[in-house]
Amino acid sequence: MILRKIYRNIPARQSLISALMMLSLAACAENTPETSPSFCAEIPRIDWAAYEKQTISNEWFHVYRLSKKLYAITEPFQWQEVISYLITGEEKALLFDSGNGLGDIRAIVDKITTLPVTVLASHSHIDHVGGHWQFDTVLAPDTPFTNNRAKGKNNAFVREEASSIALCKGLPTGVTVDNHHTKPFTPTMRVEDGSQIDLGGVTLEVLAIPGHTPDSIALLDHKSGRLFTGDSYYKGPIWLYADETDLAAYRSSIARLAALVPNLNAVHGAHNVPFSNPDELVKVRDGFEAVYTGHKTSDEKTKTQARYHFKSFGFILQANHEVTQ
Ligand SMILES: [Zn+2]
Repeated sequence: MILRKIYRNIPARQSLISALMMLSLAACAENTPETSPSFCAEIPRIDWAAYEKQTISNEWFHVYRLSKKLYAITEPFQWQEVISYLITGEEKALLFDSGNGLGDIRAIVDKITTLPVTVLASHSHIDHVGGHWQFDTVLAPDTPFTNNRAKGKNNAFVREEASSIALCKGLPTGVTVDNHHTKPFTPTMRVEDGSQIDLGGVTLEVLAIPGHTPDSIALLDHKSGRLFTGDSYYKGPIWLYADETDLAAYRSSIARLAALVPNLNAVHGAHNVPFSNPDELVKVRDGFEAVYTGHKTSDEKTKTQARYHFKSFGFILQANHEVTQ
């Protein structure tokens, strides 16, 4: 469990360079730990410069407008570099993921829109459901994993996320490494594969894509050609390491996403940077196929992890994962 989170967001090929830079950081002036974690040297990642940072951004959340109806809410100073997306329609808004629960994401959302907001997670890992408790309308798949994670997680489970090795700057007021926990939430409506979420002029289809977790979903906006992929795809090393990860299911799910590419204009992953070219999904499908079938061997291996490097992404699997010929 402890190893699961370490530097998920650093492409392994960059980590050595980052390590050399870690003592010369000046990026996070206030409350900066004396020795910042290596990912801090990459912050802000260059991709964000393509978008206008919104003035409602605060010390913890940075907000960018990706289109007239779409906002990315990121937590750049915490090692997950998680991105929650607020998708607005004419009548409602949907918050796709709610972050770590370290900052007040509701306050940020309320500054973006006055529309009623529904929250839905790409999956129930702690860095995607942390702010769920702040919302009255919570959509969720009805899986045992989801329902278990909806009970919350105690400080022992999540404290590392609020520790100095995870942070480039101080925590939001009132949050400490000793009191941080994931608060429980109550699903108020269920979604499943094929569910349609109508926001008024914007309709999102839920795609069940188990693998990273049993309850992983993607959201597809057919009209705009936008696909929100959660942790099943983002730019960087993709974690397929947790005990709840199912590699055979991931293989099917990433193939399903790659098949959508001819109709896509944009892919929005849940970590690091907010936009990827849809063609990346084809590369990820093919790369994973090579890993899954044993045609690509690991580039780095420890007792617990096998890491596979590709140009703009990678995979981190358990070292003893099975290979299917
Ligand atoms: Zn995850």
